[in-house]
Amino acid sequence: MSDPRRGRVVVIGGGVAGLTAAAFAARAGAEVHLLESVSELGGRARTRNEAGFLFNMGPHALYRKGPAEAVLLELGVQLGGASPDTSRAFGWRDGRLHVLPGGPLSLMTTSLLGAREKAALGAMLARFPKLDPGPWQSRSLRDFLQESFRSRRLQAIFEALVRLSTYANAPEELSAGTAIAQVQAALGSGVRYLDGGWQQMVEALAERARRDGATLRSGARVRAVEPAAGGLRVELRDGSRVEADAVVLALGPAEASSLVDAGANPLLAEHAERSLPVRAACLDVGLARLPDSRRPFALGIDQATYASLHSEAASGLAPEGGALFQAARYLAPDEKPDRGEVERQLEALLDALQPGWRAAERTRSLLLDVRVAHAVPTAGMGGLVGRPRVDALEATRPGILLAGDWIGPEGWLVDGSFASGRDAGRAAALHARRRRSDG
Ligand SMILES: Cc1cc2nc3c(=O)[nH]c(=O)nc-3n(C[C@H](O)[C@H](O)[C@H](O)COP(=O)(O)OP(=O)(O)OC[C@H]3O[C@@H](n4cnc5c(N)ncnc54)[C@H](O)[C@@H]3O)c2cc1C
Repeated sequence: MSDPRRGRVVVIGGGVAGLTAAAFAARAGAEVHLLESVSELGGRARTRNEAGFLFNMGPHALYRKGPAEAVLLELGVQLGGASPDTSRAFGWRDGRLHVLPGGPLSLMTTSLLGAREKAALGAMLARFPKLDPGPWQSRSLRDFLQESFRSRRLQAIFEALVRLSTYANAPEELSAGTAIAQVQAALGSGVRYLDGGWQQMVEALAERARRDGATLRSGARVRAVEPAAGGLRVELRDGSRVEADAVVLALGPAEASSLVDAGANPLLAEHAERSLPVRAACLDVGLARLPDSRRPFALGIDQATYASLHSEAASGLAPEGGALFQAARYLAPDEKPDRGEVERQLEALLDALQPGWRAAERTRSLLLDVRVAHAVPTAGMGGLVGRPRVDALEATRPGILLAGDWIGPEGWLVDGSFASGRDAGRAAALHARRRRSDG
């Protein structure tokens, strides 16, 4: 029988942030119930099987040596996967492919830049790992680009590297400090594509949480979280209720706001209204064979595009002999993507990279406008440090913790979900235990 002194934590949302929070709260001794509205766990980290090809929800890469890896290590979760080979990367400009400068050799051979520009980029790449992002946190990426590079072509290359590492296509708004730190992580430790897709990570997290006693329920949409007898009451759409000592809202700002104070909680309402989401259009293509193994990767320089052969670095993503390309267009803040235009643009990129791919196509998936992250860390908010903390509701709604990719000062994209999930799970378990021992 469970010990009532442990206290009960309800986690709402079964994406990476919620699963991480559930795992940490359960480890800390709480009785944990996770509620996920749709039929499967994983949120935006889910992977779909289309005719034997495993499609993540758009291109997904896990940053090495960041908060995600630290949390996975702490939970004892090991995942297979490998880094893409960046020595065969191309930049796409004026409808042509050029070697993408990333190191000394590619810098020498690229046709993207003239001799002076190469020297300027070489100097920047040499000092970049030691550049302190701190002073740039409240300045925009545009300021950084204009102050760092005289050449417009160099600015465009660096901006493309920032889009690649942050997914954000908002140079006027994005904090230059956040951009610098993320490009440093990308150029330094790099990323991994995961064997079997991100679903492996979702399943490993779920298994970890269950092993420590958490109950994970899918198909359970929450309608409201309300104060009740000193604790909290979670109301589900089917009319049922769960009492809780602490609740973790592992949701986006709009969903979190709709559940608390009927949408009138000032902090949540402000973030729901003001946050600038990071969005992308994604075209995933499954091929029966790979037309050209010399060209696995291209990054748009004069267009905000990307294409990468995910099945080369990660195993199990395509059937034997096949290949899986993931392509994307990074959407600008007020861009309204047109399906035909996006599809034609990304197909043209694949034409340049992999002539003959159309004859090998077996399946495709187009996501026209998906939310990659809930809030650009803007210069106005001082970058990541300006995001709300996991305990931002402490004064108004004690016991309600927040987690997700828009929460906490640590980690961008899923790294933020992992870091805030860990902190929210621990804080919720502590709050629940204290409430039981005080009451
Ligand atoms: C196209 C694309 C590419 C990306 N690429 C990368 C990448 O390369 N690297 C990287 O680090 N990150 C990447 N990301 C971001 C990463 O996928 C997300 O940051 C992360 O998965 C978010 O996890 P989360 O748990 O915070 O939110 P979510 O995954 O959104 O989870 C929230 C969950 O809450 C559930 N929910 C909502 N309302 C309710 C309710 N009322 N009751 C119960 N449940 C509810 C939802 O169904 C959902 O499952 C990418 C995202 C996208 C879309």
